[in-house]
Amino acid sequence: MKLPAATDRLQVTFWGVRGSIPTPGQETSRYGGNTLCVELGFSACGRTIIVDAGSGIRRLGDDLLSRSGHSTGLALDLLLSHTHLDHILGLPFFSPLYRHDTRINVYGPTISPEDCLEEVIGGQLCYRYFPVRQTELAARITYIDLREGVYDLGDGISLTATYLNHPLLCMGYRFDWRGRSVCTAFDTEPFRNLFVTDPDDPAYDEIMALEGDQAAREAGQRMQSFFRGADLLIHDGHYTEEEYRAGRAGWGHSSVEQAIHAAESAGCRRLR
Ligand SMILES: [Zn+2]
Repeated sequence: MKLPAATDRLQVTFWGVRGSIPTPGQETSRYGGNTLCVELGFSACGRTIIVDAGSGIRRLGDDLLSRSGHSTGLALDLLLSHTHLDHILGLPFFSPLYRHDTRINVYGPTISPEDCLEEVIGGQLCYRYFPVRQTELAARITYIDLREGVYDLGDGISLTATYLNHPLLCMGYRFDWRGRSVCTAFDTEPFRNLFVTDPDDPAYDEIMALEGDQAAREAGQRMQSFFRGADLLIHDGHYTEEEYRAGRAGWGHSSVEQAIHAAESAGCRRLR
């Protein structure tokens, strides 16, 4: 068996794993109470890619500066799954943004040209919410609006972006590099038939019910091939199955059991 060279390591660090709101306290001391932020470190080329800017990104920022000896300019890529508050609220506290020698590409999905990423991010960086405006950030920031597709991030890193199932346009990301693959899927829930399926319901329409079944099946298959064979799948697991079934279907989050099913059916090696 050919073992990967140490320099080919793709290191994944979880700086925030919670959804919705930061939850410090004893109950979250094991996994941490910060909202989502995951760091991918590509050792051979020295690249750092960050997925989401929840409250966890504050500690990551300090750590990046300390690792670089507070002297070298950082070149970073930040991919936002979507712009719900819990995924971007840490950004104003990301210390590399306040340094002239930082270059950062910020990627994410957008709903319309008027609602471009720069506008949405800038919306929380205004005096009403925060004392520093976007124009006052020292770092060189480039915003890149993403659509579904495959992108070359350089250094052999391939990014595949796909839409997930969430009330707001939300992207799942797959990174392929030197035979390794990591997928992120937060926030999402399994696609389901949105039409009435009970023949006894007065609103039941057989053709629509069948079409809904087919659309959900096809979307599910699309997700399965997106996750296919990933070394690591980082998936939404917001609820227990019991909680999900107690009226939370359609809220855009998965149960832990659904996450396990997604990983198993796509042959992923590890799930987090
Ligand atoms: Zn969300």
